[in-house]
Amino acid sequence: MNKREPRLSQTDYVNREGAQCPWCESGNLEGHDRDFGRGMATLEVGCLDCEQFWIEEYQLTGYREVM
Ligand SMILES: [Zn+2]
Repeated sequence: MNKREPRLSQTDYVNREGAQCPWCESGNLEGHDRDFGRGMATLEVGCLDCEQFWIEEYQLTGYREVM
């Protein structure tokens, strides 16, 4: 399988709120396994158009009270 270079930079991906595939810019995405660590979390995402998979990275940003 060929290794393809993504079209979107890290910043592009975040600015588009993770709504587009970094490789083909499709919005046809599917979330898979998520994993929570200390202060961070990851989510595996797959593109249904080009069949590329990647890991989204989340960071803890704060907390709020439940009303
Ligand atoms: Zn894609």
